[in-house]
Amino acid sequence: KDDQKDVSILMSKVSIILTSYNRPHLIDKVIKSVVEQSYHDWELWIMDDNSNQATLQKIHSFLNDPRIQLYQSDIKDEQRHETTRYATLINKGITLSTGDYICYLTDDTFYYPEKLKKMIEVFEQNPQIDILYSAQRVKHTDQSMNVFYESDIPAEEVLDKAAFKVDHCSVMHTRKIAEKGKEKYGEYWDDDPKYWHC
Ligand code: UDP
Ligand code: MG
Repeated sequence: KDDQKDVSILMSKVSIILTSYNRPHLIDKVIKSVVEQSYHDWELWIMDDNSNQATLQKIHSFLNDPRIQLYQSDIKDEQRHETTRYATLINKGITLSTGDYICYLTDDTFYYPEKLKKMIEVFEQNPQIDILYSAQRVKHTDQSMNVFYESDIPAEEVLDKAAFKVDHCSVMHTRKIAEKGKEKYGEYWDDDPKYWHC
């Protein structure tokens, strides 16, 4: 209860950009992990990359929450490998989003319930910080989603280079730094397929 009181004095909105493609068995749990956040001032942009009906049906069941928006691409399968699709969708998502902070989800990643609150608190208490990353637990599953191995990716140091070390789903940054990056490099994210993994 006290935690909730502290959070309610924060005024910042966070935009979560979730990329989705054909994971009907996971997408509802991913969206639920946003809906169940202890921090409430968020908007969720579901950036769907022309998924099957089963996936869209799951997504549609959440659209009565006014904080949740759906964008649907009309990508054809023969064009799917021309860019890093999640980066292409993220670029679109950033232009649609309105939050002071931006963070990311893929359709095989869940947030812990306190994630947004904890990261926004660090930003609010450290106005000089523009980008944060968190630790991440990786769960390896079989086809029935039974976990057979878990490992942790720590967040113990300030990094000069994040490529290959930090999953974008553990990152939150200010809108300000995204605009600065776009000014310098011409786009928010580089969606050249050679950078898929970094
Ligand atoms: N994705 C997409 N379009 C595609 C393929 C993937 O938008 O044609 C999204 C997918 O929904 C996920 C992200 O890209 O949010 C990363 O995909 P995946 O988890 O399959 O890749 P990996 O974790 O192996 O990098
Ligand atoms: Mg993945």
